[in-house]
Amino acid sequence: MISSVCVFCGSSDNVNRIYKDAAAIFGAEIARRGMTLVYGGGDVGTMGSLASAAMNAGGEVIGIIPEYLNERVRHLPLTQLMVVKGMRERKAVMQEKADAFVALPGGIGTMDEFFEIWTLRYIGLHRKPVGLLNVNGFYDVLIEFLHVMNAQGFLQTQVLSDLCIETSSVAMLDALTEAQN
Ligand code: AMP
Repeated sequence: MISSVCVFCGSSDNVNRIYKDAAAIFGAEIARRGMTLVYGGGDVGTMGSLASAAMNAGGEVIGIIPEYLNERVRHLPLTQLMVVKGMRERKAVMQEKADAFVALPGGIGTMDEFFEIWTLRYIGLHRKPVGLLNVNGFYDVLIEFLHVMNAQGFLQTQVLSDLCIETSSVAMLDALTEAQN
């Protein structure tokens, strides 16, 4: 059973409404299913839309934020805010607290978190499902590149097919649940 989902997504506010709305829908769907949202803390960008929607839908939200970011960001009322020493500790706590991981559209921080957790699964350091939510075709180019890696022999077919790629929140949460069984 998946009782908590960690979401990686963009901290930028300067993005199309489509991405903020999709993050809010995902946050609300996590809450509706009684799952806990684990995310990077703060009220910035799509991260803020995600967390406030989950809170407003009556969900549990755990924010995990490093000290130096905590001093700089706006805060939302959350179920729990964990302030950790640095980025590496944050990733370790996220990995421990969540049963599944999903990247929504984001920038390099999102990509760093997504590729690390997927790599840790592929080398066998955890068995928790990992997903990529392809909102508005945002990840089409990345998915194409993953297929190039596969065609050129750098990425095993089984590792690529192990990644849950979906376009809707409902399909993603169903796929993660299925992958975990
Ligand atoms: P980015 O995709 O570059 O916007 O980075 C977003 C990811 O990095 C999130 O999943 C967060 O975990 C982390 N992050 C980057 N900036 C912040 C911030 N200002 N507050 C909290 N987390 C952040």
